[in-house]
Amino acid sequence: MKVPFLDLKAQYETIKEEIDAAIQEVVDSCAFAGGPFVEKFEKEYAEFCGVDHAIGVGNGTDALWLSLLALGIGRGDEVITVPNTFIATVEAIIFAGATPVFVDIDENSYTMNPDLVENVITSKTKAIIPVHLFGQPADMDPIMDIAKKHGLFVIEDACQAHGAEYKGKKAGSMGDAGCFSFYPGKNLGAFGEAGAVVTNNSDLNNKIKMLRDHGQSKKYYHDVMGWNARMDGIQGAVLSVKLKHLEKWNEARRRNAELYNELLSEINGIITPKEADYRKHIYHIYAVRTPNRDALIDFLKEQDIYCGIHYPVPVHLQKAIQRKDFTPFSIAEKCSQEFISLPMFAELTKDQIKYISNRLKSYS
Ligand SMILES: *Cc1c(COP(=O)(O)O)cnc(C)c1O
Repeated sequence: MKVPFLDLKAQYETIKEEIDAAIQEVVDSCAFAGGPFVEKFEKEYAEFCGVDHAIGVGNGTDALWLSLLALGIGRGDEVITVPNTFIATVEAIIFAGATPVFVDIDENSYTMNPDLVENVITSKTKAIIPVHLFGQPADMDPIMDIAKKHGLFVIEDACQAHGAEYKGKKAGSMGDAGCFSFYPGKNLGAFGEAGAVVTNNSDLNNKIKMLRDHGQSKKYYHDVMGWNARMDGIQGAVLSVKLKHLEKWNEARRRNAELYNELLSEINGIITPKEADYRKHIYHIYAVRTPNRDALIDFLKEQDIYCGIHYPVPVHLQKAIQRKDFTPFSIAEKCSQEFISLPMFAELTKDQIKYISNRLKSYS
């Protein structure tokens, strides 16, 4: 039995008519860059997240970068985040001109350990970027308390957490800004590149809207230096269609995770993911931990089961960072050597999950 890591085609087949009609509508109206289809999606996504504003941008990296710029974070400033994230979190900090400062993760949720944050706050610290890794929110209450106490901004990297919740609040809605990616493989994926910032702060909303569109207040009147980071009309239309299905797809992922957890619990040497207190995990990635990860991936590939690694090298050890002065982050480093991401998507069948679990059992 072949099990791909992700099957975007299977998802498309279930909504083909709606999607094709939505794309045709954009083509017929030629509203390709920004415009009414993006505005419609922005309204719907803000409502979905329970916030006042959503700003559609080019991708998740833009969302993070423009949030930092709009909050006035730049040269000489420090931003606290975690080393086990996708590089974009840190690229955004560095391209804003600021310096990333890392804290280790919690071994159960794989998100920022709030107990470590105050140790690294200095007079230069301006913001904290918790990452809702794999679709599970970071422990936001203590992070927000620390930010309040020290006068810091909080930008949520919710790029993997569309519809995830913390104490009933949607990921992205708790900090000053929440950043989303709609990269095709994300739980809410566009048909190309797209992203969004969500916020309750109307000043921030206005600033990011200007920054994404060359700093214009109206056409050809440029009040600040901006950039081109607009969302495409086709992406807005596709995302409006897909948003209606997101909760159902997230629930299917949660059921798949539950079945995996049950079947894998009997296997020695495999640590299954845990949903921490107060959190609703939406399993963008279903990552288990095991020693001998690389051999296991090869074995599964021979059985036609395709896995991933998120991420093999923590950001502070990436060549691009060009710094060797970090103290080790033992949990992030250990996890990066043990993580293996099993196939996970809404259309994954019970039979496929049973097959994968049986193959894993035969290996151990
Ligand atoms: C996908 C992702 C991003 C970047 O989003 P792009 O749309 O690919 O630019 C940032 N942070 C995390 C945690 C991500 O998973």
